[in-house]
Amino acid sequence: MNIIELQEDVFRPEFIYHGNDLGVNYTKENTKILLWAPTAEEIKIEIYNYYKNKDPYEVFDLNKNINGTWKVNLEGDYGGKYYLFKIDFGSKIVKTIDPYAKGLASNSEMGLIVDFEKTNPDDWQKDKRVNIKSPVDAIIYEVHVRDFSSSPYSGMKNSGDYLAFTENNTVNNQGLSTGIDHLKELGITHIHLLPVFDYASVDEEIKYEYNWGYDPHFYNVPEGSYANNSEGYQRISEFKKMIKSLHDNGIGVIMDVVYNHTYFTEQSAFQKTAPGYFYRTVDNCYLTNGSGCGNEIATERPMVRKFIIDSLKYWAKEYHIDGFRFDLMGLMDKETVYNIEKSLHNIDPNILIYGEPWAASPPHLKDYQKIYKGIQRNHKFGFFNDSFRDAIKGDTNGFVTGYVNGKFQTYNDIKRGVVGSIDFNFEVKDFAYKPEETVNYVSSHDNLTLWDKINKSMSKATEIKRIKMDRLAQAIVFTSQGIPFFQGGEEFLRTKYGNHNSYNAGDHINQIKWERKSLYYETFLYYKGLIKLRKKHSAFRMREADMIRNKLEFLQGEDAAIGYMFKDHANNDKWRNIFVIYNPQHHWTRFWLEKKYNFNIVVNETKSGTDILHRFRADNIKVPPITAMVLYTD
Ligand code: CA
Repeated sequence: MNIIELQEDVFRPEFIYHGNDLGVNYTKENTKILLWAPTAEEIKIEIYNYYKNKDPYEVFDLNKNINGTWKVNLEGDYGGKYYLFKIDFGSKIVKTIDPYAKGLASNSEMGLIVDFEKTNPDDWQKDKRVNIKSPVDAIIYEVHVRDFSSSPYSGMKNSGDYLAFTENNTVNNQGLSTGIDHLKELGITHIHLLPVFDYASVDEEIKYEYNWGYDPHFYNVPEGSYANNSEGYQRISEFKKMIKSLHDNGIGVIMDVVYNHTYFTEQSAFQKTAPGYFYRTVDNCYLTNGSGCGNEIATERPMVRKFIIDSLKYWAKEYHIDGFRFDLMGLMDKETVYNIEKSLHNIDPNILIYGEPWAASPPHLKDYQKIYKGIQRNHKFGFFNDSFRDAIKGDTNGFVTGYVNGKFQTYNDIKRGVVGSIDFNFEVKDFAYKPEETVNYVSSHDNLTLWDKINKSMSKATEIKRIKMDRLAQAIVFTSQGIPFFQGGEEFLRTKYGNHNSYNAGDHINQIKWERKSLYYETFLYYKGLIKLRKKHSAFRMREADMIRNKLEFLQGEDAAIGYMFKDHANNDKWRNIFVIYNPQHHWTRFWLEKKYNFNIVVNETKSGTDILHRFRADNIKVPPITAMVLYTD
């Protein structure tokens, strides 16, 4: 285990600061600076005209203020100036940026004082988060900024950059829409961006390096490598243009946030301003490593909890972010997560909040502080549903199969997922109190793509069969109660050539290969149809567990196929009864009903949507192999 310096005085109770003004607060008239560094003996701020200058052109002393804070007011307009703090602890002198920094030089070499008015696109004041009535109305598309546009067939000019999300009328090599137009055509409601806060692993001046970005450096500044220029205000203004453009096109933006570890430890702004306070340790100096990345952020400590909540509120207010996805939420403490929910929903009750209810290894926390599936019950945030995910398609990277690719024993786990993981009955129950607490998915950036997983586990099946398995897996996600989520590019069978951990594997592996939209256009249409069905029909988006218990009824089948119906205009759906059947088997299946119905098929083995594909009258439904079927009666 690695050792860090810990100055025990940082934990003294009088050093808990409650104000909401930490950091650098700019106005045209003056800039107010407040830094929390309780064990410092002397602090100066150095002001630079340019971050590559050797010497500051001005230096000011900070004065000791209440609760471990230090303060100075700079009179005049300091917008656009760079800065560093010089902190004397008696035993040592360090230079650092403050953890609250809102602007940065390239590669985080200095802090930047930001005049935010100069970063706002036109009509920014009118920009609003997208409006959804319930989290279960969201359809979430996960994507990495660079992957979205780095392919030569993306048709986007701003390859790999924030500004690619501002381009309309872009097409691939065969004239099919790409970029934002593609997202609108597909019908998703939110994009979930892999880390876009400042991370450490990519040189912002040499932009050809690649990383997913799970290596936080400065939490309150957009990453510089996705901007045309990482200096000055440009990363902020281009980030805002991206948000504005997505909002103008009706798409919300969710940030992937990583408040569980930092890339640097001794060299981090946390450690340089308050040695020992921000990281969990044992025996006062040994770092714990539940993140697998060298440290764990001590979210349970008051000033850390405050930092995280201040940071999230800042992104929601300054950047109009629509939601937050918490990486390794299992490393955070329960109280902090409950406080996050309250603070964000106080700003806007529509902000989406969900996370991973696990850690790389167990966090150094007391049992009552720990996060696991169940602690979210009735708390207005959700968890990724890994048991449903694995039941549908098997293990994440191996040969183990699931329901759609041959292991029908996961039948009961599929039923648990279908009902939104609520307590449905004695047999079918799981961790959720409400369906909005489960994020249903079969692939994300981590692990094999769905298509690669199916190829690996079903290498002997024909491509036609493998495509059917892929569609069935996604049909289960889109028709189940809860929040559907998928990895961008899956709609045309995304491949990373079998690489299950492509975090630094470069563009060729990671990029969304837009030419595949032409190759697998039928699959794209199938995904699009499922999204349309879900959006147009409220039965798939029930809000309350009681309604699911009352309106959803499983049908008696003969084998491993699962069938269920939504009865009597469930959740005010205009269709009277909706029947959903999943047949993963390689033979036809049949469901017998107690009477004859006039059926309209809207999803069959090749097509999906809300248009009637076929009508028939019968007291039974026959479903072909490896197929989802959706039918309704008037
Ligand atoms: Ca960076």
